[in-house]
Amino acid sequence: MATVLDIAKHNPNAAPIAVSDAARAAGFIEKTAELTVAAGAAPGGASLVGLTRDQLKDSLAAIGVPERELKMRVAQLWHWIYFRGARDFAEMTNMGKELRAKLAAAYTLARPQVVSEQVSKDGTRKWLIRMASTGPLDKGAEIECVYIPETDRGTLCVSSQVGCTLTCSFCHTGTQRLVRNLTSAEIVAQLIVARDAIGDWPGATPPEGAFVPNDGGRFVSNIVFMGMGEPLYNTDNVVTAIEVMSDGEGLTLSRRRITVSTSGVVPQMERLGAEANTMLAISLHAVRDELRDELVPINRKYDIAQLLDACRAYPGLSNARRITFEYVMLKGVNDSDADARKLVQLLKGIPAKINLIPFNPWPGSKYECSDWERIERFSEIVYRAGYASPVRTPRGRDILAACGQLKSETEKLRARARMMAEQGIGAEGVYAVGNGE
Ligand code: SAH
Ligand code: SF4
Repeated sequence: MATVLDIAKHNPNAAPIAVSDAARAAGFIEKTAELTVAAGAAPGGASLVGLTRDQLKDSLAAIGVPERELKMRVAQLWHWIYFRGARDFAEMTNMGKELRAKLAAAYTLARPQVVSEQVSKDGTRKWLIRMASTGPLDKGAEIECVYIPETDRGTLCVSSQVGCTLTCSFCHTGTQRLVRNLTSAEIVAQLIVARDAIGDWPGATPPEGAFVPNDGGRFVSNIVFMGMGEPLYNTDNVVTAIEVMSDGEGLTLSRRRITVSTSGVVPQMERLGAEANTMLAISLHAVRDELRDELVPINRKYDIAQLLDACRAYPGLSNARRITFEYVMLKGVNDSDADARKLVQLLKGIPAKINLIPFNPWPGSKYECSDWERIERFSEIVYRAGYASPVRTPRGRDILAACGQLKSETEKLRARARMMAEQGIGAEGVYAVGNGE
């Protein structure tokens, strides 16, 4: 017999969900409310961190700031939150005491919680971040975020979803059964958390012994959307987050230093180009449709020819502004000389860089990484054809921070996935595996 759990009071759009007695007995009831997390919703709690100018304006209006002051107050908040990294309204000395008190009564400047930080021998840092709760029964979704310092740049690899909508056969994230989109604020908050942790605010200093760039620039100078999730299944929030991160009066990250990596969500690529105008990376990984259908299953929807047409149409391409094609090296699968030759032939006419990624094995994966000689041979063919083909040095391997290894292992997520699978339930912003667009 099924028991009906009415979650409508948490999400007016959600249908009542039938929860089996077995699921209830297994303790899944509490998890079900997480189904109410809606894509694009404001973050849980009342933190102002990560919000857009419009959202800040609404937050100020809600506590009675008069219309004529709103623009100025938003600009002040913006400066404190995104330029200075303020954590307390009391720091905001150019705002009256009364307003500061009102802000502190209604809101916080809380960041998502850093559950753990792991530091690799090579200086790479990985944070497990718990997002604020979005409802009374939500314990907070967990995602991972990785910082990769080099001498002349610091790259932050951010997540766009909890888990991933897609199921690429070589990717650990793809095996996570349940997904929800991160809000734009949750995406921006990853940058704030990273800058807090490495002391990347005016007047702050990095932790003792930390490896950070020493070229006098920002410690986080580049962002790549290569963490968990498919950014172009969450385009609205990704585009909004990029707006906040690239704003010249706040976080000031150049759009040319932001790269969005996609497995090939063709219809969204044009939008990304038009609205976010960032750099683009394509997870190609195979040069024949038959193989790509298996490795990157979205290929069954948008094949290689369609994908490359969308690449050719991406705005602003030039030799100085190329698309990066990612190609994971899988032993005996996609790493032959013929594959390399076909790859350069396919990319003819597209300003491209080719990034060869040694496969990172994970427990239970059915692939192996190509031998080093094979990778070198492949890379040589690509190089001879005129492409720089750097082999991506795996970073942070000792802390499982490398590509495709990001997978938040929270019990609640797995429990929720089981329950959803059992019930065949889907909800806005929450997708079961392979659910498509
Ligand atoms: N979903 C997006 C971005 C996140 S994945 C995408 O697929 O592009 C970031 C990159 O890591 C992608 O190129 C992905 O194919 C690659 N990747 C995933 N699992 C990997 C693994 N086990 N070893 C090496 N690269 C992997
Ligand atoms: Fe998702 Fe990218 Fe992994 Fe494919 S490779 S499952 S799109 S994160």
